[in-house]
Amino acid sequence: MSTRMVPDEQLRAAGLLPTTQRRAVLALLVGRSRPLTAQAVHAELASTVGGVGLTTVYRALHTLADAGLLHTFDLDGQRAYRHCGAAPHQHLICDRCDAVLECPPDVVASWLSELHHHTGFTPHADRLDLRGICAACAPT
Ligand SMILES: [Zn+2]
Ligand SMILES: [Zn+2]
Repeated sequence: MSTRMVPDEQLRAAGLLPTTQRRAVLALLVGRSRPLTAQAVHAELASTVGGVGLTTVYRALHTLADAGLLHTFDLDGQRAYRHCGAAPHQHLICDRCDAVLECPPDVVASWLSELHHHTGFTPHADRLDLRGICAACAPT
C-alpha cells in the first residue's frame, strides 16, 4: 500500500533534504506494518548503520512526521512512528500484534455519515483510528 518511491525521492517530494540520518530512518520504516518507537529505531540503526545518536533519531522522526511521511501512534504510552502511504486512509490497529492496516476512506464513509445522522457528531474523516483484532490474529 505504500508508495514505491525510494526514500530519497520521498524526502525530496516532501520538501526535505535527504540527509543520511533521514534516509536511514525512513528506509528502516518503509514496508513495516508495525509502528516503531524512537528507541526501537535507534536500537536497529545502531546494529546496522551505527553511530547515530538517539537525539538525532528523535529529530529525524519528528521532521519526517511533520512532513507527513510518517504517522504517529500510541504504543504502550510511547509515541511510535509508521511510514504510511500518501493516499488518504484510516488506520485499523491490532491490539494483539500492534500491526496498523491502512483502510481507504470510502470503506467507512457510509458508516461515518450514519454516525453523524444518529448523533450529530462530525468525525475527522482524515484521521480515524479503529482498534481491534486483525485478520491474522483473529481466532478462526
Ligand atoms: Zn497512516
Ligand atoms: Zn494482529
